[in-house]
Amino acid sequence: MKGPRIGVASLVQETNTFSPKPTVREDYTVLVGEEASRSLAGTNTEFAGAVAGLEELGAEVVPLLAAWALPSGRVTEDTFEYLAGLLDRELVRALPLDGLVLSLHGAMVAGTTFDADASLIEVARSRIGSVPLGVCLDLHANVTERMVELADIMVGYHTEPHVDMASTGARIARLVVNTVRDEITPAVALAKRPMLVPAEAMRTDIGPMSEVRGLADTRTASTVLDVSLFPVQPWLDVPELGLGVLVVTDGDPAGAGSLAEELAGEVWDRRDRMTTPRLMRPEAAFRAARESDCRPFVMAHTADCPTAGAPGDDPVMATEAARHAPDLAVFHSVLDPEAARRCGSKVGEGVRLPVGGVFEKSVIPVEVEGMVTAAGSGAYRLTGRSFTGREVSMGEWAVITTGSHHLLVSSAPSITADPATWRHAGLEPDRADVLIVRSCSDYRANFPGSAPEAVTLDLPGPSTPRLEGLEFRHAPRPLYPHDRVAM
Ligand SMILES: [Zn+2]
Repeated sequence: MKGPRIGVASLVQETNTFSPKPTVREDYTVLVGEEASRSLAGTNTEFAGAVAGLEELGAEVVPLLAAWALPSGRVTEDTFEYLAGLLDRELVRALPLDGLVLSLHGAMVAGTTFDADASLIEVARSRIGSVPLGVCLDLHANVTERMVELADIMVGYHTEPHVDMASTGARIARLVVNTVRDEITPAVALAKRPMLVPAEAMRTDIGPMSEVRGLADTRTASTVLDVSLFPVQPWLDVPELGLGVLVVTDGDPAGAGSLAEELAGEVWDRRDRMTTPRLMRPEAAFRAARESDCRPFVMAHTADCPTAGAPGDDPVMATEAARHAPDLAVFHSVLDPEAARRCGSKVGEGVRLPVGGVFEKSVIPVEVEGMVTAAGSGAYRLTGRSFTGREVSMGEWAVITTGSHHLLVSSAPSITADPATWRHAGLEPDRADVLIVRSCSDYRANFPGSAPEAVTLDLPGPSTPRLEGLEFRHAPRPLYPHDRVAM
């Protein structure tokens, strides 16, 4: 018997509304049809997981498209229209379908559309009609009522740091096929709480969130098909901002609603324990690095982190490293397209040039002097535990070496939490005394030996760990922890 014909599409971008860098069409990698399946096969992505899961279930897989951009500022209106148009076009080409798996981030803002992911679900829904539509989201999604109304089934990653993208794709694929085959009647309920959780306190392997994740797992049985916790990414100023808990049951809407409320309450009751880890000023961090035997000693520059939507153009750690650690082997990075291009043709030559402060007005460029020891461009594949195998590029890049400091300058944002990025630039991260990553948590999965002693730097930026300092204009108030006293 021929299996059900299921489409798979993925359109992923996480918006940081505090970032000054808009997300434009060039920021997207777009793969269409079979090319998407081929390129992503075997990677730790929702798309690959969904395709593999559907094949295993005997479904006829129809790959539509996979488009993704690194987190950044709002997606421009015309970029969004292009993506929505692409999804629509590929759906028209794929019809008729018996079901659809749609992988989204869930925290995308496009122009003035705060809930842009819901608009994409709407595009899909209006094309496919009433056939089962399953959506999978990032754990950092801001789930809205509109999303829940438009989809039949919705799940999210269960892990932070994220290591379960492929299995999340497989989970939603199975639920869609089960629905198509009339084996289940999914009922989805969302419970929200007006709270933000610091990125560093969302971990599902340790701490308060892991306790609630554990509770959710014990409740996932018989009629409860899936429970997803969404401690929304906190740099998102939108009207429906808030922590979400999503429960999918088989034919039990009331049960889904009560379990979602119960688990949202469990997170809420732990809110005072979900705090930012101890932050360290750079000088203290370098002192800690000297006192530690751990190598590489990891410093997380979370406030200007491209995987949290910030530009990654603050070069302040170049100055701090020169001042406090001239003798240590320090690997660090900065986004600066102009500097990357200038250095590209100067391998083996000495350079002196300003770097950084490209997008963020408050950031002051830093003058660096050194030797260009490597340069290049092109794609490479990630090897860390998040998005393993995914092909990425940091555009043109160069390494400026000053004594024992190696500064990776790139024209596009680089994923410094992944060892493959450093190796692509000829730098072996294990040889660093101090590895400065622009990452909130992924480095923990990728550098497990260094993670226990890693420090979070106390620096300003669009993805600041100091959430109280963010000025929200659209988010509902009161909002924890901003309005701590009033609640
Ligand atoms: Zn995420």
